[in-house]
Amino acid sequence: MTDMGLVVVGAAGRMGQTLIRTIHAMPGVKLAGAVERAGSDHVGMDAGELAGLRKIGVEITDDPLSAFAKADGVLDFTAPAATVEFAGYAAQARIVHIIGTTGFSDEQNAAIAAAARHATIVKSGNMSLGVNLLAVLVEQAAQALEPEDFDIEILEMHHRQKVDAPSGTALLLGEAAAAARGIELAEHSVRVRDGHTGARETGAIGFATLRGGSVVGDHSVILAGTGERITLSHHADDRAIFARGGVKAALWARGRKPGLYSMRDVLGLSQTR
Ligand code: NAD
Repeated sequence: MTDMGLVVVGAAGRMGQTLIRTIHAMPGVKLAGAVERAGSDHVGMDAGELAGLRKIGVEITDDPLSAFAKADGVLDFTAPAATVEFAGYAAQARIVHIIGTTGFSDEQNAAIAAAARHATIVKSGNMSLGVNLLAVLVEQAAQALEPEDFDIEILEMHHRQKVDAPSGTALLLGEAAAAARGIELAEHSVRVRDGHTGARETGAIGFATLRGGSVVGDHSVILAGTGERITLSHHADDRAIFARGGVKAALWARGRKPGLYSMRDVLGLSQTR
């Protein structure tokens, strides 16, 4: 099979540049286009040079439609509104859409699910092998330990530029814990605590968010019982783990029927649920 041609949207971003370097280094894929938002200073630059490689002859454009027309897939770590727009274009072009963007509203998630009727979409708040395995372990622990005996709290820290909270990964881990306990996360999560909150509700899943420095992503799921505590943690040191996961997802999705898939499908971890 020929190399899979991938477009990176948000090419000048932290993840965008990492994706360009990763595609350059991985077999079976090639950079077919690079897109930035209209008005960005980076439009017109060579994508390779921007990402710290040599000139590779792919110019950054602000025209996603023409870039998608020449590609097999799109790697999208941008912003929620942009991703919803790209999902429509990717569905029109019938190409694979890998969504790493986080911070969607319920309406935006519904729009992406609608696009997945025509497009093959893999969407995950975390594309790393480690975090997806951690989600499986969280599920096992949450299932084994009764909510009356063990409280679940999720702690995350990210760099100072991150704009959404809790992180997509924290929510992914919360969803894993909620699914294992047969409850809806939205109805049982405590996303912020401030002031006189009263005692903790049995079965709640709590979140705590830290922001600072250059932290790529730290997550801990704490299962706190009376007299003992289990902590399951993942620390990301390098954004390349997410980029490699994204490329792996694109290769997996190539030729697959339309639908909304997760990274656990890609990694073969879904059957554990
Ligand atoms: P960033 O701000 O560095 O990059 C985002 C880029 O998208 C910017 O260059 C911006 O100009 C561009 N962009 C925004 N709107 C656009 C549009 N309409 N058209 C084209 N480009 C557009 O952010 P980042 O740190 O690279 O993170 C991006 C997203 O990816 C965030 O939502 C983050 O939470 C998420 N993320 C997910 C994973 C994962 O594994 N799923 C890992 C890391 C980051």
